[in-house]
Amino acid sequence: MFLLVSGPDDICAPLLELDEVREPHCLRKSVSERDHLAVNDIGRFLGYRIAEGEKIILDFEFLHRMRQVFASGQTRQACIGCEWSEFCSLIA
Ligand code: SF4
Repeated sequence: MFLLVSGPDDICAPLLELDEVREPHCLRKSVSERDHLAVNDIGRFLGYRIAEGEKIILDFEFLHRMRQVFASGQTRQACIGCEWSEFCSLIA
């Protein structure tokens, strides 16, 4: 299961406390805009609007379908202009 959060997640949040991270990119407006686009894409794929606090069960079927729609580009509005787009496309 994953829990949809707003802002830095459990992986990123501890890094914000490091002294060397003065301007964490995950707090930039561009990142929140990408998050918003991704939430819209996923909600459209699921057939209902999702928001912060949403819990989604990650079973095999769900992950398989998510991978398919990601690879097909149906849930990649947030990826437009992202520096990692080529890398993520290779993985997909
Ligand atoms: S290209 Fe990858 S890192 Fe960039 S927004 Fe898409 S999934 Fe996220």
